[in-house]
Amino acid sequence: MSFDATVLTLYPDMFPGTLGQALAGKAHARGDWTLQTVQIRDFATDKHRSVDDTPAGGGAGMVMRADIVAAALDASAGPDDPRPRLLMSPRGGPLTQDRVRDLAAGPGAVIVCGRFEGVDQRVIEARDLEEVSIGDYVLSGGEVAAQVLLDAVIRLLPGVMGNATSGDSESFEDGLLEHPHYTRPPEWEGRAIPDVLTSGNHAKIEAWRREKAEKLTRERRPDLLARTDRGEGA
Ligand code: SAH
Repeated sequence: MSFDATVLTLYPDMFPGTLGQALAGKAHARGDWTLQTVQIRDFATDKHRSVDDTPAGGGAGMVMRADIVAAALDASAGPDDPRPRLLMSPRGGPLTQDRVRDLAAGPGAVIVCGRFEGVDQRVIEARDLEEVSIGDYVLSGGEVAAQVLLDAVIRLLPGVMGNATSGDSESFEDGLLEHPHYTRPPEWEGRAIPDVLTSGNHAKIEAWRREKAEKLTRERRPDLLARTDRGEGA
């Protein structure tokens, strides 16, 4: 079973982009995930092949037309398609590791990439698009955001990560940021690897990592502790 991604975009040449190489690229070559891009402009109906128009009510910019986006969606994911339909959007719910894990456990995703000022509200409602944001900043288009989402999902697919356990203590997986890492050489520019890590005492190493993870999280992301109630009394 593979994770099947369909991406609707005005810039299909931007794909697979970063997903064509390294971990995601190898997983794609193995068939762990598939990618279909759909050129939204192919569903334009006028001779200029236009996909956008001026905003109702006036103002700057252009808005992607509901009828064109809907036609592209209907042609690529029918009503029986079990995959969630996502719209990359700065107004969406934040993409979290929990949401990423949910998506990775499912059959795939149909992802609409916005451009201009975004898409006509009516197609969001009529096609039940879930708006997903990758952060509190504004990109020029949804393509990079879609690649961020897919990258995060693909590395969680079964068999994709070389060391299957390397994901367990990862940042966010247990509500904490991950502990610091070290590797050879044992001393570099006068800085030594913390003794505990070379002690061979696994219980102590675990305790040290846990302590570092909690300290980092407390300092940098107290919101994560609050979310898991870990912050109480800390
Ligand atoms: N006028 C919109 C921004 C449009 S940006 C607003 O103020 O909300 C153009 C497109 O880029 C969006 O339709 C969306 O698909 C994508 N995009 C921009 N920022 C994004 C973000 N933080 N997360 C996900 N997609 C984003």
